[in-house]
Amino acid sequence: MKTKSVGIVGTGPAALMAGTVLLEKGCKVVFFDQKKAVARKFLVAGNGGFNLTNDEELIKFVSHYNSETIKDSVRSFNNTDFRVFLSKIGIETFVGSSGKIFPLKGIKPIEVLKAWQDYLIHLGAIFKMEHVLNDFNENELFFESKGTINVYKFDYSIFALGGFSWSITGSDGNWLKPFSEKGIQCKKFEASNSGFELLESEFLKDYAGKTIKNCKVFAGNEEKFGELVITEYGIEGPPIYALNASYREGKTIKIDFKPSLTETLIADKLKKAKNTSEGLRDLKLPKVVIAWLKFTLNKEDYQNKIKLAETIKNFQLNVSNLRPIDEVISTIGGVDMNSINETFQIKNFPKSYCIGEMLDWDAPTGGYLIQGCVSSGHAAANSIISHS
Ligand SMILES: Cc1cc2nc3c(=O)[nH]c(=O)nc-3n(C[C@H](O)[C@H](O)[C@H](O)COP(=O)(O)OP(=O)(O)OC[C@H]3O[C@@H](n4cnc5c(N)ncnc54)[C@H](O)[C@@H]3O)c2cc1C
Repeated sequence: MKTKSVGIVGTGPAALMAGTVLLEKGCKVVFFDQKKAVARKFLVAGNGGFNLTNDEELIKFVSHYNSETIKDSVRSFNNTDFRVFLSKIGIETFVGSSGKIFPLKGIKPIEVLKAWQDYLIHLGAIFKMEHVLNDFNENELFFESKGTINVYKFDYSIFALGGFSWSITGSDGNWLKPFSEKGIQCKKFEASNSGFELLESEFLKDYAGKTIKNCKVFAGNEEKFGELVITEYGIEGPPIYALNASYREGKTIKIDFKPSLTETLIADKLKKAKNTSEGLRDLKLPKVVIAWLKFTLNKEDYQNKIKLAETIKNFQLNVSNLRPIDEVISTIGGVDMNSINETFQIKNFPKSYCIGEMLDWDAPTGGYLIQGCVSSGHAAANSIISHS
């Protein structure tokens, strides 16, 4: 059988996993990227603690994705499969807090990337850097590189061009317009996994960096537990990221600062204390929360134990915005999931595939983003391999 050739545009985790599967099955693979070096955003993710995937059981794991196609790909190449692969290239991992999976302590993000790239080069991968994708058709990819246009022919193409945040890493979303012009349905990018800008940010500034542990953030029936961090602009943390979609839907976001106690118990404790300040301290609420309650409530409500207890359990966030899109962890928007089939093949370009964050799906941080990217790459590569 003729060796299949595949051009992969992008060198993020989605691209690297697609290339891995193809090279292991004997395909000829050339990677292209507009940056000088590979996987810049993968390294940025590494700087904040390299949360590669999550140890959660699969049923719960896939519930974090809003796309059936991504869910299916994660079922086919799951968190355990990814860990086994990482181990194969010499990157051992461990399960940290809340099930997050990291490289073993002492292994730097650049070492993970190098181990993966070395493995690909050993299998025969070619990397062409500083190649900006300009255009494509069924079998050809057109790149601008150092002032010249280069055309490459492949049996198949895989696009793994990323989302639209941290554009310095190369994920600049400039491909959105040309893709739309080719009749591939695309949606505008929006921020995801973003902190909330708050109306009272000026007041909160003095508390920037302070954490609020063990609280519940909720909107309607959706609730997330965890730790929050006060920032210069407002508030961030995993529960906030997880409720970005609720905010986009226009829902009111609230915090329960004391989920372990009922409202009645809180009110009783407050009534027993000498004064409100002592009562709040007895509840072991962080200083920032106490100050925030005082700032928010008028004097009368602050002294009213029932009203105060109710506010501690239902503290409404005055969200003014998500962060500017270039600063957020991930984006939604990009290629509409209806433009691809269940194997990530573009419906009106059957020799081409889209994978990773360039597709319009959403998931929280905690390892689910990288896992979704590598699983989609795995699925697309297997589809190419299965074609006769
Ligand atoms: C601060 C931060 C922290 C994060 N932390 C985590 C985490 O802990 N866990 C987690 O799961 N995820 C995390 N993420 C998200 C994760 O890094 C991304 O979801 C993931 O890198 C997306 O992978 P991808 O392969 O789809 O695309 P990307 O990694 O974005 O790669 C896309 C590539 O395509 C190239 N490209 C784009 N356009 C062109 C073009 N026209 N021509 C040629 N090349 C082009 C780019 O240069 C880039 O290299 C984090 C992200 C950020 C920003």
